[in-house]
Amino acid sequence: MSKKGVLTVVSGFSGAGKGTLMKALLKKYDYELSISATTRSPREGEEHGREYFFLTREEFESMIETGKLIEWAEYVGNYYGTPKEYVEQRLNEGKDVILEIEIQGALKVREIFPDALLLFVTPPNITELKSRLVGRGTESMETIMKRLARASEEANFMEHYDYIIVNDDLDECVETTHQVIMNEHYKVSQNKNFIEAITAELKAMKEGAI
Ligand code: ADP
Ligand code: 5GP
Repeated sequence: MSKKGVLTVVSGFSGAGKGTLMKALLKKYDYELSISATTRSPREGEEHGREYFFLTREEFESMIETGKLIEWAEYVGNYYGTPKEYVEQRLNEGKDVILEIEIQGALKVREIFPDALLLFVTPPNITELKSRLVGRGTESMETIMKRLARASEEANFMEHYDYIIVNDDLDECVETTHQVIMNEHYKVSQNKNFIEAITAELKAMKEGAI
């Protein structure tokens, strides 16, 4: 029914499994995941243009200055930002776009796109969060502790989100996420064009034109 693409913002504590969830969701369903720019270094196995556009601070600041980002934020010492052109193009084509970004960015997106759907991904508990962060093995214990400290600040913003998505069983989490996004297509705010068309048809019928 809906022709407009749904813009979904996915946030959550570092180590909650957002990246894992996105990968599994995209494998099964047709979503466009926006690739962010960042100044952090690539992790082993990450590629420029696939997980992120890895930029220097100068390159990133030039993107800010030239208005090429929808939003940007600093997270544990690095810049992260969402390229504008890709997101706007895909939404205009009617594609469902997902941004996997942290909370400050999510709240900025909500200001710019009031119809955006905000999902907060969390593990079932914080002991599991720490063991996922340690188990991932990509950050030093110092960075892990910084990310956990950041998580306790982020928890204060969970109530600004539309849905809490618990990532316990991954397959279940993929289905829940997909269902929540699909439901969004039926919202009145997503179907303004349809409502206008039906109203115009009714008017034409009343006037005897059809
Ligand atoms: P984020 O992108 O939120 O920082 P990741 O996707 O990198 O988190 O996941 C962190 C770690 O947790 C990874 O090692 C990943 O394999 C693991 N993980 C993700 N989802 C689950 C899950 N549902 N059950 C168990 N482990 C998970
Ligand atoms: P990581 O370094 O683990 O890949 O990401 C760190 C944090 O930055 C995560 O919470 C992730 O969601 C967030 N992030 C990734 N891309 C963007 C972005 O474009 N904008 C904002 N605001 N945050 C982002």
